[in-house]
This record gives sequence, C-alpha cells and structure tokens, in this order.
Amino acid sequence: GRPVGNRLWTRNLRTAQVKEILNFIDGDYVIGSAWFDKRAPYNGQVIARVAEADKALVDTAVQAARNALHGPWGKLPLADRVDLLYAVANEIDRRFEDFVEAEMTDIGQPAHFIRHVDVPRGAANFKIFADVIKNVPNEFFEMTTPDGLGALNYALRRPVGVVAVICPWNLPFLLMTWKLGPAMACGNTVVVKPSEETPQAAALLGEVMNRVGVPKGVFNVVHGFGPQATGEFLTTHPDISAITFTGETRTGAAIMQAAAVGARPVSLEMGGKNAAIVFADCDLDAAIEGTLRSAFANCGQVCLGTERVYVERPIFDEFVSRLKRGAEAKKPGLPDDPESGMGPLISQEHRNKVLSYYKKAVEEGATVVTGGGIPEMPDALKGGSWVQPTIWTGLPDSATVMREEIFGPCCHISPFDSEEEVIRRANDNPYGLSSAIWTTNLQRAHRVSGAIEAGIVWVNSWFLRDLRTPFGGAKQSGIGREGGVHSLEFYTELKNVCIKL
Ligand code: NAD
Repeated sequence: GRPVGNRLWTRNLRTAQVKEILNFIDGDYVIGSAWFDKRAPYNGQVIARVAEADKALVDTAVQAARNALHGPWGKLPLADRVDLLYAVANEIDRRFEDFVEAEMTDIGQPAHFIRHVDVPRGAANFKIFADVIKNVPNEFFEMTTPDGLGALNYALRRPVGVVAVICPWNLPFLLMTWKLGPAMACGNTVVVKPSEETPQAAALLGEVMNRVGVPKGVFNVVHGFGPQATGEFLTTHPDISAITFTGETRTGAAIMQAAAVGARPVSLEMGGKNAAIVFADCDLDAAIEGTLRSAFANCGQVCLGTERVYVERPIFDEFVSRLKRGAEAKKPGLPDDPESGMGPLISQEHRNKVLSYYKKAVEEGATVVTGGGIPEMPDALKGGSWVQPTIWTGLPDSATVMREEIFGPCCHISPFDSEEEVIRRANDNPYGLSSAIWTTNLQRAHRVSGAIEAGIVWVNSWFLRDLRTPFGGAKQSGIGREGGVHSLEFYTELKNVCIKL
C-alpha cells in the first residue's frame, strides 16, 4: 500500500461524489491492491469505493501493531494511557456529526437512532474502560509456609498483544468501540476489520487517533471481505495474539477454527433468537413499547432483538392488535427524514435472506398479521433494500422461522398458559443471547430470570445497558463475557508473582 497522507479518510466528504475509504495502517491512510463498492442501503447507489487490503497489507498492519506494542505505547504509564482514551472520547464527541454521517450513509437508519444509540456509545466505550483499568485492584494473597516466614502472591495484568477485531455491520461504531475501548485500555494494539458493508466509521476513527496523539500502529484498520480475504488473512495471521469477533454464529465457528492454530484465545459475540415473555400482569403499554423497539429498531438488525414473543393467553389478542398497529405506524424513510420510523435492511443480499424467511413463514403455515413483503417506496428509493415490518402468529416452536435467526424487522407471537410452559418453550432454542420479561410480579420476575438460558435478561425493559455489567451469549450465542472488569479477562494476560519471604 502507498501512504496517501494522514488526514484523508475520505475525499469529497461533503459532496455527492463517490468517497474513497482507505485502510489505516501505522498512522497513515493507504490504498490497497483493489477497490470494492459500498452502496447506500436506502437507494442502492454506490457512495464509496473502498480500498481492499490483501494478504501483504494485512501483514503490514499486523507488523505495525506488533512494533507499536514495543514502542512508545508499550512504555506509556497507565495514567497517560487513560488520558489518551479520554482524549479519544472527547475527539469523537467533537467529530460527532461526522460519525453520524458515516453511520447514516453506511446503515441508512433514522438519524435519531444513530444520534442516541450508536454514536454516543462510541465515546462512552472509551471512557468506561479507561475508568475500569484505572480503578481495578490487583489480586493479592499472603500465604503461610512450613518455615514460618510465608510468601506473598500478587497478580499482574499485562496486555495480550496484537488483537484482531472482527466487526459486523449492524451497529458498526458501537460494536467496534465496544472492543477497542477495553483492548486499548489494557495496553494492547489492534488491527480492526470492519464489515465490508460498513467501512466508514472505522476509517474516520483513524483521524481521531492521529489528532489526539495515539502512537502510530496502535490502531489499524484493514478493509475487505471475510472468507479467503482480508478477514481470514487477519485471523489466520500467526502474529495475532487474540481474536475478538461479533457476527454470525457460523462465522464465529470458522474464526474459532482459525484461532485453534497457535491456540489463540477468542471472544465470540454471535447470533440470537431472543424470546420476549409477556405476562398478563404486565404494564401493557410498556410491554408494547419495548417489544416494538426490540423487534423493529434498526430494521430488526440488532443481535439482542426479539424474534419470538410469548404472550399469556388472556392478553394475547389485545397484544397482537396493538403490536400490529405499532408496526404499521413505522413509516420507512431516509435517515435524515424526521418522519422516518425505520430504515432499510443493510443490503439487497440481506433482504433476499429476510424475504426468504417471509416466504418460508407462509409455507410453514403462519398467519401474516401485518407486512410480509416490500413496501411501496418513491422512485428515488426503489433501489434500496426496504422491507415491511412483519408479524406472524400460528407457527409451532419447531418451525424454521421460529428456530433460525432472521435478523430482520419481524417477530412471531405465540400464546402461552403457564410459567413453566413458557420457560420451557423460550429455552427450546440453540441460541441464548438475551431475553425480555414483562411482568409486575416481583417473585415471578426473579424466578423466570433465573430459569432463562441466556446471557442477558431484561425485566420490564430492553437494551438498557450499564457498560460495567457482563455482556455475552449462552449456548450458540457466544463464548466469553465482555463489559466492565469482565473484558479484562480477555484483553489481559494475568501473571502471578510468588515471593518467598
Ligand atoms: P458476519 O458473521 O457475516 O460477519 C461479521 C464479520 O466477520 C465481517 O467483518 C465479515 O467480513 C467477517 N468474516 C466473515 N467470514 C469470515 C472469516 N471466515 N474469517 C474472518 N472474518 C470473517 O456477521 P454480520 O452479518 O456482519 O452481522 C450480523 C450478525 O452478527 C448476526 O448474526 C447478529 O446476531 C450478530 N451480532 C451479534 C452481536 C452480539 O453481541 N452477540 C452483536 C451484533 C451482531
């Protein structure tokens, strides 16, 4: 790759012309061996050409990251590292609108969602892990010995090394910084592979790092695809010390195999088929509002989203009709349209997948309560990957549509009659990421939360996140937990020092 200067994440940022999104390696923006197109999800037009990193460029990035470990970054006192992470957060805030634009054009979701969920979490992710690393105590054990003099044990935390960060497209900036914050706080260096669908925010973050003085090579970005391409070149690179991944379960399994060579640790945040359980004693307004968000926010492309809703029989009909009304009120539109209630799916390819499930649901005997197809859009937006919010009833738990993650704006609602029954049915799935329980009965809330097989349970809420808490999936939804001190388990190597007195 040829360096092209260090303040050029894109050309023509504020014009309608096609941008160029570059790799960011060792503090410089570099082109690659090829280019690929990024299309806007709302109209299908090419908005950027992205510089693809080949094997040689991935190697350059990994070597830059490895050198940085032993350079100024590795020698930086903790307090200075913490200050730098705060500076990154502040610079993200200063460039807030640039990140909003990058995310808006990459994922096409309504501006208010990007402004309130996705981009603010970028800055928060750097601050929280700066605070964690500053405040976490070291483990210490005093022991007795037969000679009566004893020994002292203490555990030191050291960076793991060069961390490969493999990101999905659904909440690109939020999910990428969720890994970068702790990785950098713990003193590691990183090579990030953003999704090929959402390259912009990662590239822009390079400018932030340079501006606040993060040493060259600490943060690197390589663009490209997954299998037999940039992603795989990175995860199979022998100088990568650990791999953190968010994405589909199938991809996670491939990454785990790559990590097996050299026995590298992995942290995997993967798919879900999350259940909401709505008891008749719930606050129905809150349950409707929460379920509308959990099924349709980000056009249903949230790993924590609800695709299976179980509603206690006495309120089933009312719940279905109110959720239907809410879904039908979500008007699709452009991100900067204040009336827009929902953006498009990420790509035509993903829409084909979602529509295949819409078809399958009908074949499997579902009643389509609302949606099920493509909405009527104005001519200028017809090339976008729009899809209708969709609700089904009438399927058995064994239906494909009830078992596989669809990752679209859709859910199935089933009635249930007892707590025991609904726990069994909610758990009868290979995934175990999250669950939302709606009830005003305190004992039941605790009982059901305890029995649900998932990494995260919300009671009377959804997507309410305290970044200090453990986050991750049970069963096929993930391996490991990140968040607060839990992230330290993955991003540091603990070393016990035993001193005989
Ligand atoms: P994906 O698995 O298709 O891709 C994720 C990333 O992996 C991309 O950058 C891709 O290029 C890369 N990749 C693909 N194959 C690879 C390979 N063989 N080697 C190395 N890298 C490879 O996922 P996606 O479609 O981008 O994202 C949607 C999925 O992510 C959904 O399943 C969703 O549930 C999941 N997700 C999970 C969480 C969580 O926290 N558990 C959060 C968000 C999304």
